[in-house]
Amino acid sequence: MPSIHLKTPIPGPRSRALAERRSQAVPRGVSQVTPIFVSRSEGAVIEDVDGNRYLDFAGGIGCLNAGHREPGVVAALHAQADRFLHTCFMVTPYESYVRLAEKLNALAPGNTPKKTMLLSSGAEAVENAIKIARAYTRRPAVICFDDAFHGRTLLALALTSKTHPYKAGFEPFPSDIYRVPYGQPAAHLEDTFQRVVAAESVAALIVEPVQGEGGFIVPPPGWLTAIADICRKHGILFIADEVQTGFGRTGKMFAIEHEGIQPDLMVTAKSLGGGLPLAAVTGKAEIMDHTAQGALGGTFGGNPLACEAALAAIQAIEDGGLCARAQRLGEQFRQRALAWKDRFPLIHAVRGRGAMQAFELADAASTKALAKHCYEHGLILVTAGTCGNVIRILMPLVVTDEQMGEALDVLEAALAAVECGAGSQPAAASQAAPSQ
Ligand code: PLP
Repeated sequence: MPSIHLKTPIPGPRSRALAERRSQAVPRGVSQVTPIFVSRSEGAVIEDVDGNRYLDFAGGIGCLNAGHREPGVVAALHAQADRFLHTCFMVTPYESYVRLAEKLNALAPGNTPKKTMLLSSGAEAVENAIKIARAYTRRPAVICFDDAFHGRTLLALALTSKTHPYKAGFEPFPSDIYRVPYGQPAAHLEDTFQRVVAAESVAALIVEPVQGEGGFIVPPPGWLTAIADICRKHGILFIADEVQTGFGRTGKMFAIEHEGIQPDLMVTAKSLGGGLPLAAVTGKAEIMDHTAQGALGGTFGGNPLACEAALAAIQAIEDGGLCARAQRLGEQFRQRALAWKDRFPLIHAVRGRGAMQAFELADAASTKALAKHCYEHGLILVTAGTCGNVIRILMPLVVTDEQMGEALDVLEAALAAVECGAGSQPAAASQAAPSQ
């Protein structure tokens, strides 16, 4: 039986009624990628309030590598809900936080002893990584990249690249942030230390091993190693932002492992929590321990439900061989997408690593039209790219071969429709569209 099953035109009457209430109650700044409201989910499938079933290739923007309602995650949540919900780890600690820290320390690349602190969102983890780097190095500046995305809180936003709609209007941003081109010859970085900011003023460089929101941009082989070497030479901490790439998405537990790099600090979130809000900074123990007691923390960081969910999600990724699965899914997508590229001039490029795959289209308007055609035909996905012209896939890695085939068929039909101008017209296509 196909997973996609549409009972009503999309959106159905119940979703339309909820959209009306949403527009009254929720500010317009909070974007809405699809006009449907969810009632339940399982594996790689979402059902909406009108009973329509979709394949979910957005995965809550890459948070569900282990799948929707992964059975081990759900069981762990039930068990924890029967024990206690919140005490604040800083007040009355609990074992699951420590167990998860131990697990992340063991998983993080490299043999140097590690420590982990837990937070609630990727942006919060990014901010803490920068705080820790500044405290350790006693230097102010941070290097980030063109097309980077590190979150929406003010320091994270200063590190994020895309102006509209993310940054415009929210100035001023924290100072001492310097942006350089991504994937360009590493000598450019040395040049920056001559012309823009002295190397000895730089605390950290933060980099996505594959850029996510920026459009699934894979840097040239050896580039990450070269910039990591330059960082080491100048005593600059190398921070890997694995928020979107982590937990199997690229075919390894962490994308930085493709180049055998040991980051000084690593930031994770999204699929870490198996569907619950959870983030982490994992780093070399000597660096992590450098701040004063009480200097780091947060009321909800490492909430007990989220810790139990994360431990179960990581186990599901390991036991289910989901890193290898990501590799195979990525190849399946890539084969089809490269054939589409020959057939549809609309596609300019196909790129990605493991299951973190995408294709770039001619413009933002056709990208929006394609995404709309897809959800109207039962496939949910999100766009990306500084110019909003990238279609990316972030499906749960437990998606079956049949579901993958179904999804690719919808995408192919959508490409044919948009290519010949018969695709759904986007509601408001614009270069400034949010990708999330
Ligand atoms: N870093 C990267 C690479 C991301 O992709 C994101 C979110 O998309 C973030 C940080 C921010 O994470 P959050 O939305 O949980 O704050």
